[in-house]
Amino acid sequence: MTLPGLSSKNLWLTRFPVSVTFVAMKSPTWLKTYVEGLDIVPNTKYRSDCPVCTKKNTFSVSDNGMQRMWFCFHADCNVSGRTGVTLSRTSASTVFERSAASAPPPRTNNTYEVPDTFVSVSRRVEAESYLRKVGAYDAYLSGVADIRYDVRMNRVVFLIKDGRKVVDAAGRSLDGRGPKWYRYGSSRSPFVSGAGTSAACIVEDCASACSVCGIVSGVALLGTNLLTEHIEVLKQYDRVFVALDKDATDKAITMVRTLHSHVPTRLMVLHTDLKNMEKDERNDFLRSHINR
Ligand SMILES: [Zn+2]
Repeated sequence: MTLPGLSSKNLWLTRFPVSVTFVAMKSPTWLKTYVEGLDIVPNTKYRSDCPVCTKKNTFSVSDNGMQRMWFCFHADCNVSGRTGVTLSRTSASTVFERSAASAPPPRTNNTYEVPDTFVSVSRRVEAESYLRKVGAYDAYLSGVADIRYDVRMNRVVFLIKDGRKVVDAAGRSLDGRGPKWYRYGSSRSPFVSGAGTSAACIVEDCASACSVCGIVSGVALLGTNLLTEHIEVLKQYDRVFVALDKDATDKAITMVRTLHSHVPTRLMVLHTDLKNMEKDERNDFLRSHINR
């Protein structure tokens, strides 16, 4: 702050007002945008060098899931402020997309660490409505399927397990951004919903698998190709039904043939997607097949 040509007396006089100016310093207008753009997982804290005074590790931002509050601990700076609940879906999405791009979830075969962006489905009304719409809400409530909401990608996430171990996850977009289904990990395991049934039904996706699990175990291959890992899982059932969309009937017939050498397998021709049927209609349809 020393300016050339100032006498020591002048300096002394100016020192006090200068420090007051710093204490009372309001955040520069760009700081809010800066904070909103930081790659911070909701409901966590963040620490970095201060972008205003540039002091080492004095800048703290806390994200409470709704807004972010910032503060610099350096006595000569003390900038502080909050974003307000302006982290709109769009800006949040941009932030989350950016962070998703810079730090992809761990992808190693048959191990998947559930990120803390997977939160309870109850945190998002649209996630619950989606599960109701596709007949997967019962599976969610009963815990037959482990379903979460991903705040980062705005997806309903179905955890894929091998026994009790989470090995992967598949997320259904709630806002049409990106692919309809996103595979988080790289396992080759199918998604299975339901336990303790002797019959399994191969379906199009995780939501359909949840919709059938009151009657049979729903198995979603996540991609219509039958892998050896899928066969290993399916062999554990007494009977298997292949219920793929009628556009995929050729593929379904091939699948029935392949599976039949491992486990009794039959085709179940669908006129309506299972997850779009009313619950009673779906259950009647399934019972009529498995009781044959
Ligand atoms: Zn500072």
